[in-house]
Amino acid sequence: MFLGDFLMNNILLNYFLNYVKIDTMSSEDSNTTPSTMKQFDLARKLVLDLKELGLNPVLDEKNCYVTAELKSNCNSNLAIGFFAHMDTIPGFSGTNVKPQIIKNYDGKEIKLNGITLDPKNFEFLPKLKGKTIITTDGTTVLGADDKAGVSEIMSMLHYFINNPTIPHVNIKVAFTPDEEIGGGLKNFDIKGFNCDYAYTVDGEIYNEVDFENFNAASAVIKIKGLDIHPGNAKGKMINASLVAHEFISMLDSKMRPENTEGYEGFNHLCSIEGICGEAKMEYIIRNHDAKIFNSQKDDFIRIQDELNKKYGENTVKVTIKDQYKNMREWIDLDPRSVIRAKKAIEDLGLVSVSEPIRGGTDGAFLTRNGLNTPNLGTGGYNPHGPYEMACLDEMEMVVKILINIAKEN
Ligand SMILES: [Zn+2]
Repeated sequence: MFLGDFLMNNILLNYFLNYVKIDTMSSEDSNTTPSTMKQFDLARKLVLDLKELGLNPVLDEKNCYVTAELKSNCNSNLAIGFFAHMDTIPGFSGTNVKPQIIKNYDGKEIKLNGITLDPKNFEFLPKLKGKTIITTDGTTVLGADDKAGVSEIMSMLHYFINNPTIPHVNIKVAFTPDEEIGGGLKNFDIKGFNCDYAYTVDGEIYNEVDFENFNAASAVIKIKGLDIHPGNAKGKMINASLVAHEFISMLDSKMRPENTEGYEGFNHLCSIEGICGEAKMEYIIRNHDAKIFNSQKDDFIRIQDELNKKYGENTVKVTIKDQYKNMREWIDLDPRSVIRAKKAIEDLGLVSVSEPIRGGTDGAFLTRNGLNTPNLGTGGYNPHGPYEMACLDEMEMVVKILINIAKEN
C-alpha cells in the first residue's frame, strides 16, 4: 500500500517549503563550528519535526549534527543511514528565499526577477513539461541543494511511521552542516552512528546512484626569485613570475579543467600572484584513477626538481596535500549499498544511472573512514545560484526510492 501521491506530495512539499525558507548559508571565512550559527535554526526545526513524528532526535550542540533512528519493525538487523546537509553555498544569497511553484509547467522559458530559465541554456527543461517545478524568484538560491534531500528523508520517515505494517530495516538519519565548504563531518561519530552502510541524498538526477568521485589534492608552489636592478640583471636575475610561467608551461595543457570531462582528471590553477622576487601558485589536482592521480602529483615534484636544477636549489618549493579519495576503492570491496539502491530504483520500473562525480561528497569522507556512502539524486537542478530549481514529481520519486531502500521484503 502506498500513500496517495497527492498526500505524499503535500507532506514533501510542506517540509521542503518550510526548510528552504530558513537561511542556512555556510561561510568559508569562519573559524567556528559550524561555520555559521544560523544553521542551528534549521537543526532546531528538524528536531521539532522529528519529535512530531514520534522519534527521539539528538542535536549535537557543538557540531550542529541532528541524528535520529527509526528502529526496525521486523527481524532485520540491517542498519542503513541517510545523510543530507543543511547548509547552502556561501557566495550566493540564501536569505529570504521565495520559492515559485509552477504546476503543469509548459516546458517553455520562465522569467524570474532579472533572469530567465531558458530551454536553450537548460536542455532538461522541456523534459519537465507537465510536471510541478519549484524555482527561485531570481534573487537567491533555492536551497534544494540539499533541502530537497532533507525533506525527502523526512518524508520517508513520515511514510514508515504512518504505515507501521510495512516492514523496514533500522533507519538512521543525519542532518549535518557545512558540506558546501567541506569538512562538515570531521567530528561526526561514524562508529557511534553504527550503520552497515549509508547514502547521502545530495545529487541531482533523481534515479542516480553515484559511487565514484575524484581523488583530490592541493598543491602550493612557492617560487623564490633573485631580484636585481633590471639594468644590471644580465646573467643574474631570476624572475619568479617567469619561473611560475615556465612551471605552468611544463604541465600538460590537455589536463586543464576546460579540456576535460567524464573520467578525465585535471590540474586546475586556482590562483597565481607574483613579482620578480617571489611568486606563488595554488593548484588543485583531481582524478578518478588513483594511478593517474599519483602521476599528476609526481609531475609537480618532477617539474620542481627540474627547475631547481636550472635555477638553483630552493628556487621552487612544491607542497602537496591530499584532500579526499575516490570512494570506489572501498565500494568495490563491499558493493551492497550500490546493489540495494539500484534494485530499489529498478523495482519502481526506472532505469538506474551512475555517473562519475567530478568533485567530492560528504560520502567520500564517510566511506574513507569506514562507512560506505554512495550518493543518491534529489530531483534538484542547477545548484549554487539563482537558476536553482527542483521538480516536485522527481522529488517524490526519490522518496519512493528511499522507501524501497529501507523496506525489508
Ligand atoms: Zn549538496
